[in-house]
Amino acid sequence: MRVTASYTREILSRLRRRYSKDMRTYLYHSNPWELLVATILSAQAQDKQVNKITAKLFKAYKSPADYAALEPKELYPYIKSIGLYRNKGKNIIKASRLLTARFNSRVPRTIAQLITLPGVGRKTANVVISNAYGINEGMAIDTHCITVTNRLGLARSKDPVKIEKRMLRLFPQKEWSNVSHLFIALGRDTCTARVKYCERCVLKDICPSSTVR
Ligand code: SF4
Repeated sequence: MRVTASYTREILSRLRRRYSKDMRTYLYHSNPWELLVATILSAQAQDKQVNKITAKLFKAYKSPADYAALEPKELYPYIKSIGLYRNKGKNIIKASRLLTARFNSRVPRTIAQLITLPGVGRKTANVVISNAYGINEGMAIDTHCITVTNRLGLARSKDPVKIEKRMLRLFPQKEWSNVSHLFIALGRDTCTARVKYCERCVLKDICPSSTVR
């Protein structure tokens, strides 16, 4: 399918109208460091679960220096209800030590610098710089985005890096973060990996995978 500018404009405009309140992260945070910690914890976990954990964690420890002084076993009691907590805990502490040693305790503002931190891949880096700093350097592609972009005919790949490159070509830079949030909202609401609820989808008359015409 040939993807035209009018098709992508229409997708963006309809999703924006339907999901305007979802154009943000639901991960609780009050500064870039807290968002980085929350995003590392959120891998293969729900935002709600992460917010429950960080409500207590962020009261106990504030700055990267606080975390850098911890041993993993001191962090585990706060995060053990989440999957992969040992790895995530070790990564958070290693990241805090690198931040204090190399970046003056400030969360970097570029993807290239962020992905040098343990536990931080492109998706996490995109989430952090777009939500904490309002910088659109790339687009966070999660499993919802993979499903939705393929069903809409915008991508033909399961590889998040390839999909991200393609989306950056299809959408204007100022919208990259919004597009990611909107695709995630659509993927949670009507276009889930397991079931397509096309009959109540705002894109049902233009989507090539729609079951409703
Ligand atoms: S019409 Fe159906 S397949 Fe297309 S985006 Fe909506 S829910 Fe997904």
